[in-house]
This record gives sequence, C-alpha cells and structure tokens, in this order.
Amino acid sequence: MWLDPDPPYGFVNHSCDPNLGVRGEREFVALRDISPGDELTVDYAITTDEVHWAMECRCAAPNCRGLIRSVQFLPPEVFARYLPYVNPYFQEVFQQDRPALSTPHESGSQQQTSYGTRHSNGLGDAG
Ligand SMILES: [Zn+2]
Repeated sequence: MWLDPDPPYGFVNHSCDPNLGVRGEREFVALRDISPGDELTVDYAITTDEVHWAMECRCAAPNCRGLIRSVQFLPPEVFARYLPYVNPYFQEVFQQDRPALSTPHESGSQQQTSYGTRHSNGLGDAG
C-alpha cells in the first residue's frame, strides 16, 4: 500500500529529516516551521509498507539513513519522532510487522524478549 496524496503534496520529496508528517489517512502536516521556498519533504518510509521497496537517499541530512525502506524498517526512535503524524495504518504495520522482520527465521522459539539491540545494520555511515 502506498499513500497517494492529492496535489500539491504528490510532489513532496523524500528527506530523512523531513518537515512534513502525515495526519490521519493522507493529510500532510508540518512537523516544524516551514519557510516560503523551503522544499516540502516527508520520510517516504512512513508512506509505504512495501517491504521489497528500497531507495537510495542522498538527502544530506545529518541523520540520513542512506537506504530508505518501508515503514517496518524504520528505527524505532525515528518512527517515534514522527508520531503522532504517521498514517494509522502504517502505525499498525510498524507495530505488528516489525518484530517479525527483526526476528531470525531459523527457530520457532518464542523467547525473544528484546529486539531493540543495536546490531550493525549495514546502513551506518553513508560517507
Ligand atoms: Zn536521507
């Protein structure tokens, strides 16, 4: 599922440090003050749950993730920054699908107690 916002927001670009979030179903809302002429940006990760989608990012934000993937792959602290301005559907997806994606598939063990450990995810320093 993709958000399909109405114009003019259909032209919003991605940034890892966006100035827009999503309120409700598909309404963009400013996360901070936006000056005239500022580029409107949103984190594309909160607009899709397509796990096979990925996009290289060179937005030059200090917190640029380098590789943008769907909402399930957002670091929890980044996701939390956007709240409550994340489409409710994607909030659910994040809550429900993320643990499954983060858990190794090899065993059926249910003993996972924490998936928040910061392993290297290969997305680190982008240069
Ligand atoms: Zn970026």
